[in-house]
Amino acid sequence: MDSLLRHMVDMTGHRDHTMLDISVISAVQELSGATQTRVLAISTVCGQRFVRSRACIRAGGVACPEEPQDSSPGEPIAAFPELAWCLDHHASRAEGMGSDGLRRLWLPIWFGDKASACLEITHAQGFNADTVHMVSGIVSVYRNFQNLLDYSERDSLTGLLNRKTFDDQLARMLHAGDAETLLPGQPERRHHVAEEKQWLAVVDVDHFKLVNDRFGHLYGDEVLILIANLLQSSFRAQDRVFRFGGEEFVVLLRSTTLENARRIIDRFRSNVESHEFPQVGQVTVSVGFTSIRATDSPVVTLGHADQALYFAKANGRNRACHYDELVAGGLLQTIATNDTAEFF
Ligand code: GH3
Ligand code: MG
Ligand code: MG
Repeated sequence: MDSLLRHMVDMTGHRDHTMLDISVISAVQELSGATQTRVLAISTVCGQRFVRSRACIRAGGVACPEEPQDSSPGEPIAAFPELAWCLDHHASRAEGMGSDGLRRLWLPIWFGDKASACLEITHAQGFNADTVHMVSGIVSVYRNFQNLLDYSERDSLTGLLNRKTFDDQLARMLHAGDAETLLPGQPERRHHVAEEKQWLAVVDVDHFKLVNDRFGHLYGDEVLILIANLLQSSFRAQDRVFRFGGEEFVVLLRSTTLENARRIIDRFRSNVESHEFPQVGQVTVSVGFTSIRATDSPVVTLGHADQALYFAKANGRNRACHYDELVAGGLLQTIATNDTAEFF
């Protein structure tokens, strides 16, 4: 019991999802005598479920996060038939046997009718009722605590990540980008990755004050929620979308070429332009984007994207402008400054 309490104190002492994952799998691993414990991320892409390991600990090993090595969403759920059944039937757990002859227990972390993560425990002998009971209890604490963390990281109107989490997410993305470029023994992939970069886009709604003035603040809020939904559906699962305040949003795009970043950003801009906003009609957005250099501070990178956004605003709005291209074309001057002033 002492050991369980110690783990509970450790789990609830974190303010970060990755550290929470790690302390949960460490607790389960030690208390159940498992050979391996993982947190699996479950995502849905084009109506198909995928499973990817997010954190892992093996017997005698140290728990660690598993950063995705490529932009794929993971293995199709078909590789986990018992887990697929469990998700389809909204069940609290499923058991099965792997091709290695070891028993596996899956416990999805349900939030209402959605589960975007699952605990997977691998055991040589299988699971007795006491183990299942104890692990289920840990899963409940894990779920409650994740809920609390989510609440502190998200904007209450749109559900997008809030500004507080930006620096951390940016550092994480740069770190993952480094790991990808340094993949050992894959020269052709390295060559392919070399031209892929991380990108930052600042999005600002055009003439939003007019929406509030004409239709009222509640309709303005509704427009912000719908734009947040369009952001979520236009960008990819591995990208990160933030509400920075007011009618300004920031997107971090992971590992992609300039051509792709431009295509994805412009697809979003055009999705907004062609969306019929109830009562309000047409709304447009302007976007400034830039590649992220690990050597630049977040403030400098944001400043560059803001400059490109300012250019888009001054040149017709409803367009996406690329900072480096504007600088190369002599349309913008580089400013070596730590200026955090907002342009809008
Ligand atoms: P521009 O095209 O130059 O960006 O013009 P704009 O009118 O969008 O920009 P401006 O900065 O003048 O106005 C932004 C408005 O956004 C003013 C503010 O009242 C409104 N706003 C900020 N936060 C919220 C919010 O949470 N809900 C609503 N409804 N309005 C908000
Ligand atoms: Mg605006
Ligand atoms: Mg603004």
